[in-house]
Amino acid sequence: MADGDCDVLIAGGGPVGGLLAAALAQAGLTVTVVEVATPEVLGRPGADPRAIAVSYSSRRAIGAVGAWDGMAAAAGAILDIRVTDASSPLFLHYDHREVGDHPLGWIVPAPDLRRAILERMRADPAVSLLAPARIRRLERSSRRVEAELEDGRTVRAALAVAADGRDSATRDGAGLRIIRRDYAESGIVCVIAHQHPHHGVAHECFLPAGPFAILPLAGDRSGIVWTERRDLAAALCGLDDEAFLAELSRRVGGFLGEIRLEGARFHHPLSLHWAETMIGRRLALVGDAAHGMHPIAGQGMNMGIRDICALAEVVVDAARLGLDIGSADVLERYQRWRRFDTMLMLGVTDSLDRLFSNAIGPVRLARRLGLAAVNRLPPARRFLMRHAMGLAGDLPRLLRGQRP
Ligand SMILES: Cc1cc2nc3c(=O)[nH]c(=O)nc-3n(C[C@H](O)[C@H](O)[C@H](O)COP(=O)(O)OP(=O)(O)OC[C@H]3O[C@@H](n4cnc5c(N)ncnc54)[C@H](O)[C@@H]3O)c2cc1C
Repeated sequence: MADGDCDVLIAGGGPVGGLLAAALAQAGLTVTVVEVATPEVLGRPGADPRAIAVSYSSRRAIGAVGAWDGMAAAAGAILDIRVTDASSPLFLHYDHREVGDHPLGWIVPAPDLRRAILERMRADPAVSLLAPARIRRLERSSRRVEAELEDGRTVRAALAVAADGRDSATRDGAGLRIIRRDYAESGIVCVIAHQHPHHGVAHECFLPAGPFAILPLAGDRSGIVWTERRDLAAALCGLDDEAFLAELSRRVGGFLGEIRLEGARFHHPLSLHWAETMIGRRLALVGDAAHGMHPIAGQGMNMGIRDICALAEVVVDAARLGLDIGSADVLERYQRWRRFDTMLMLGVTDSLDRLFSNAIGPVRLARRLGLAAVNRLPPARRFLMRHAMGLAGDLPRLLRGQRP
């Protein structure tokens, strides 16, 4: 479609915007996605060495919209999670067998995730993917939205969705304010290949500089998410491969045998932000456009997937009843569904970061004892596992693995 009308206009074809497009199209709505990058750049192997933890319920939603098969071969199942505090012998261990016979989640390389979602969008005739393209002007009236693109095309829709990431131009252009807290830390990400198998165990070690995660990918490979002070992260990434690998090996330890780097390494500045409201006139914010959090719990994208599952459900329900899908009532229902869950996760990730980066002796002792105490309490362990798997709360149909 060059110019034209559709039901929903989505700015941003990343994982969150792309999954929303696929879900709405599956339910019979027409969608236009405007994405600034070319699909080739977004899905190029190694373009972003981030390994993304996909929760059990997010995996169900990705499967329900038909995008899982395209990434399954690259995904590593998380069977166990082991949480440790620096060199303390006390630890917390989650075993998937305590909650069922399925993995707790999966680790997927970011480019594979993006590529599979892009392919899913491109295969659907109800989705028009305009990429590369950018919205120059977005007008939202009481009857519809109209977007003028930089290349002169015009798109009209009943509802606009901002899925254009943490620096969302759509959100800012609509005057929706965000609150931001800078962590002065960066997350170094890279992929390693190793001599010994990981056995599906995800390791989260709280080092003095911040959390250090080793995440099981398919085969004998793992994704690293390593938090460091921002200036140090830049300096570490600037080291040559041998020196960087030496620093990395010191933190990984010897349990995976010999390790080597696969591809590039990046460092992402970490911050916390949330929009004062997730909705405006005929506009909804989803994913990082609405909220961003510390990757300490691997929940940023999972929260975005929860957003789009709720939004898809309220929009599809309204469409089936012949109601206006961009009306204030529909958008209010979306905001009510998502607001509390989002604020809770932002609070939890922020508190975890503060607690585990605190070097004061009594605090350190208390948290180590806390880890060990939870480890000895099966009901507490199961409660936390169900949260990490995304099974807590009022789940939209997609998160239960049903069609939108
Ligand atoms: C180090 C690190 C590790 C992480 N690990 C995890 C994890 O394990 N699990 C997890 O759930 N989350 C994790 N996250 C968070 C996760 O990466 C994000 O929450 C997720 O990428 C958000 O997806 P999104 O689609 O909302 O935004 P993005 O991924 O930022 O996608 C936005 C899209 O919009 C496009 N765009 C930007 N501007 C415009 C515009 N003006 N017009 C049109 N298009 C535009 C971009 O090109 C992009 O394709 C991690 C984050 C970091 C930094």
